Amino acid sequence: MAEKSAIRILIVDDDFFSLKLLIRMLANSGFTHVATCDDGHAALERIDNSGRHPDLILLDLNMPGMDGGEFVRHLVERSYKGGLILVSGEDERVLQVAENLVHAHRLTLLGSLRKPVAPDRLVALIGKWPPPSQGNPLRAATKVYGATELRAAIKKGELVNYYQPKVVIATGRVMGAEALVRWQHPSDGLLLPGDFVGAAEEYGLIDDLARVVLSSAFAQARLWQETGLALQLAVNVSINNLVSLEFADFISDLAATAGVAPQQVVLEVAESRIMSCDLRALLETLTRLRLKRFRLSIDDFGYGHILPEQLRNIPFDEVKIDRSFVHHVSSDGAKQAKFDASLSLARQLNMETVAEGVEDRDDWDFLCRSGCDLAQGYLIAEPMPATDLAGWIQVGHARR
Ligand code: C2E
Ligand code: MG
Ligand code: MG
Repeated sequence: MAEKSAIRILIVDDDFFSLKLLIRMLANSGFTHVATCDDGHAALERIDNSGRHPDLILLDLNMPGMDGGEFVRHLVERSYKGGLILVSGEDERVLQVAENLVHAHRLTLLGSLRKPVAPDRLVALIGKWPPPSQGNPLRAATKVYGATELRAAIKKGELVNYYQPKVVIATGRVMGAEALVRWQHPSDGLLLPGDFVGAAEEYGLIDDLARVVLSSAFAQARLWQETGLALQLAVNVSINNLVSLEFADFISDLAATAGVAPQQVVLEVAESRIMSCDLRALLETLTRLRLKRFRLSIDDFGYGHILPEQLRNIPFDEVKIDRSFVHHVSSDGAKQAKFDASLSLARQLNMETVAEGVEDRDDWDFLCRSGCDLAQGYLIAEPMPATDLAGWIQVGHARR
């Protein structure tokens, strides 16, 4: 565990007594770098103004004004990389749903605490910080990139697409590739979307980001066609792009200019964000995109944000089952149940199925037996620059 006094903790809780109690418990255990806020808006303001994110946030789920779920979404928009501990007086089931939400957003959840909080349990959870993959706790205080810097980066062409292959499970054939944006930062190196896509959404720069990602991806798809590579192109689009009513025309004009057929393009939308937006605007855009023959995919699927009957009403062609239900699926009954439920729902709705996050041979063998259509993951290939993809496909074919 990191030096206790160096861990910067923020408690967000509207309950005065609970706040006092938590502060006292933390102080008694040697955690001295503690700030508090009694509602979500104040906490976000504090985070925005401090320039540095806290290492850990203790978050009460039930707060008037902004509840814990909404607060979590705002943290994602700010690319929060620290740890999260949920605190609640609610029953296990509510905590479980909230934990699922946090996992879906890929935030680092150290655990949950039921009120009244037991001091030893609190200290035990904080003891998990930093998680092993994060090494140095100061890494949590990743830079928050400002709007001006990000806008300039987009303009200067510092955003580049990497591509990760998607293969047909039954044959191993490379079916297509997903564009994944990176920021080639002049001093900080190659940054992943988690470091800046949320910020782009927050600063209103997500349409500019989508424009450069899509333009470059379509140019790449055109090049594949010209060199005889029949690859489907998948691109991630943000909900904030889709609720804009000009987006459908914008993207179809862009594809037409590049000479790419919409049938070759899959637009991926994350499941977790769908229910949190203006559903009417979203449905309108999705329906128009579908009429223009773009393929639509629901990404990071399986957490139950969308009910089956809601899914039925959205014209998706493909379901991408989230990697947390894929890696280690063969040895984990709970994952398997989620995986099977997603697969059978997708089948009922005539959707193609993709398993993401295939990392080892056991995952792959399970998928071969499962009837899932397509797979993507580090076992097959990591995302790579466009220039490496053609070579990778040739070598892969030779190997098979
Ligand atoms: P995603 O669309 O679900 O993409 C899959 C992510 O999982 C990628 O992370 C990929 O590098 C990673 N991945 C692939 N295979 C494996 C595996 O076997 N194991 C593990 N642990 N991870 C694997 P990346 O590139 O960091 O992207 C993260 C997310 O950022 C994407 O998730 C997508 O939601 C978003 N994103 C990426 N590019 C764009 C973009 O151009 N626009 C928007 N709006 N969002 C984007
Ligand atoms: Mg995706
Ligand atoms: Mg995904």
